[in-house]
Amino acid sequence: MDKYTAFFHHFTEAVVIFNWQGVMIYQNPAFDRLALGREEKEALAAEGRAQAKRMKERLATFQIELPGGSFVAGMSPIIDERGQAAAMLCVLRRQTAADGLQARLAEAERRLQLIVEHSSDYVLIFSRHGELVYIPPSWKRKTNERHPISREDVLAFVHPDDAPVVAQKLAELYSTYEVQTVEFRKRGEQGEWIWVEAQGKAILDEAGALDCVIVTVKNISERKRYEEKLRQLAYFDSLTGIANRSYFERHIDGLITGRTPFALCYLDFDKFKWINDHFSHQAGDYFLREAVKRVQQALRPDDFFARVGGDEFVLLLPNVTKTEMTTLAERLVSSFHEPFYYEKQLIQSTLSVGIAFFPQDSDRIEQVMKYADQALYEVKERGRNGYAFYRPTEHRQAIIEQDLPFAIMRGQLYLCYQPKVRLAKGRTMGVEALLRWRHPVLGDIPPFDFIPLAEESGFIFEITLWVLERACRQVKEWERKFPGLKLAVNLSPFLLNRPELVEHVKRILRETGLAPDRLILEVTESGLMENIETGRHILIELQQLGVQAAIDDFGTGFSSLAYIRNLPVSLLKIDRSFIQGIVENSKDATIVDTIIHLAKSLDIEVLAEGVETESQVVLLSQMACDYAQGFYFSRSLEAEKLQQWLEEHSRTACGESPA
Ligand code: C2E
Ligand code: CA
Ligand code: CA
Repeated sequence: MDKYTAFFHHFTEAVVIFNWQGVMIYQNPAFDRLALGREEKEALAAEGRAQAKRMKERLATFQIELPGGSFVAGMSPIIDERGQAAAMLCVLRRQTAADGLQARLAEAERRLQLIVEHSSDYVLIFSRHGELVYIPPSWKRKTNERHPISREDVLAFVHPDDAPVVAQKLAELYSTYEVQTVEFRKRGEQGEWIWVEAQGKAILDEAGALDCVIVTVKNISERKRYEEKLRQLAYFDSLTGIANRSYFERHIDGLITGRTPFALCYLDFDKFKWINDHFSHQAGDYFLREAVKRVQQALRPDDFFARVGGDEFVLLLPNVTKTEMTTLAERLVSSFHEPFYYEKQLIQSTLSVGIAFFPQDSDRIEQVMKYADQALYEVKERGRNGYAFYRPTEHRQAIIEQDLPFAIMRGQLYLCYQPKVRLAKGRTMGVEALLRWRHPVLGDIPPFDFIPLAEESGFIFEITLWVLERACRQVKEWERKFPGLKLAVNLSPFLLNRPELVEHVKRILRETGLAPDRLILEVTESGLMENIETGRHILIELQQLGVQAAIDDFGTGFSSLAYIRNLPVSLLKIDRSFIQGIVENSKDATIVDTIIHLAKSLDIEVLAEGVETESQVVLLSQMACDYAQGFYFSRSLEAEKLQQWLEEHSRTACGESPA
């Protein structure tokens, strides 16, 4: 009826609608201006009723005398599905203007009919007892001619989730007579759900009693779709469907306002950039979608996952303990060990996770984000494929600086050893000594966190001598059980400026009794290139002692092999970053293969660092790489554990000829 109201509101003619009982249920402002008294209105209504009974034709006109003069009334039925008049439309005009009235009324009726029958909006009229007395023609099919149709029948078309609120609104309307509006889903023609908005109005008779209820039902599915689309655009990432940065910021605000503690995790899909570069952007997009799905599978219902930048992904995990977070992070990381497939191509990616807690780590969110990012950085530094919690660095850094000079004295330094294996025979060629610092407060401090500091402060000299001493003594001790075992010690490039180093090496070898040809000193490629002149001198002097030199992290320093030709180097260690991708990435494989060939042409042996999988071993063997080192064989182990490892491995390699 709202439809009619809007439609007739600005009519210059007076318009009034009667219900079947002859009660006026609507009058427009033009009608009001006629200022009819109660008697005139009743006369009009009586005439209306009479006309309605005679309703043979669709349109009836009659003349009526009212205080304002003589009027022509055009009566038109609002027909329900039974072909009966549910209401009567009456248009009044002064007789003087009767010319053309017929035509106008016909037009009005035609439009009204159009509105009722073709509009996507519906008008329903309920009796005061709650029976449907008027339904739109298109509903006829569904109601199976059952009469009368009750409120409950109508509710059967409403989505079960929405039905309670619709029923409640209807009940409220019947008890308070106040206008009620409600949005709900209703069954459409094909059984689909359509969003509609219904407005119900109680029509009262002159005595103030309920006469009927008129409900207009408007299809708002378009609006809903639009709203949803806007929401999607505004708050979700179009590629992966997860929350975007704005939604993330809103969500975080919500958590903070609600004083909810949470963990914030930065995620890095380690191969994403590589896939984009080496396959295609489509492959990259595909990978991201799949990677997102994997993460989602590990999450709890309240966890929040967002893409806040091209390759930046964040998790917000409310009320999570450090233990729970550890379990979850482990689950996330290991879920990436399963490879991805893009058009039958295998993609092996890993996941890195950096974690910080609000408000434990900081009650400023920007700070928490920075901390999580720092933790992520640490994981990447460690070789990715893992997770790390933020550790307060400022404080930590101060402690490290303060305590480093006392570390040796306090017996906090110790060594681990990692085996190097000859690929052809599977025998152990030697071990690399790797320095460890166990701090009473900070726990294990990785060498990356204190070696640079030791280099700056000069303690590296003392430390290196300590490592040399310790390691030479250890390997000398192992010599009886494992003859021929070699020892590699890392030499900081800073020491290439200290010619007295040679004398110390000589002394240590003498004191420990280790044969010089058992010792290999590893210098990083970049370190060597920075100190090429003095470095060469020292290496030559060491070579004269019988000590060998190896180039560490080869491939990262952009040096040409031509330089190396002039250095007394016997082993080249290809950096882990190239080995990591050789199976999936043909470019890395080509680089490694080329390095091996060039090294061979210079009579230098080659070792692959960071070997973690069997397929890498197979490929490297095919490339005739001499040695390999990495987690696939063993992590770095303390002396006692490494000894066990050596024992087991010399047993399995028993049948082979000695190295
Ligand atoms: P590096 O000489 O390249 O040592 C190899 C590093 O890679 C070690 O880390 C080792 O644990 C790790 N690693 C070995 N196999 C694998 C693998 O399969 N996968 C992965 N992801 N990593 C693997 P670590 O012990 O943390 O040592 C880090 C660096 O610290 C060393 O790199 C070396 O540059 C330096 N360093 C360690 N000990 C000493 C030392 O006594 N003196 C000096 N100057 N530097 C040292
Ligand atoms: Ca090394
Ligand atoms: Ca290395």
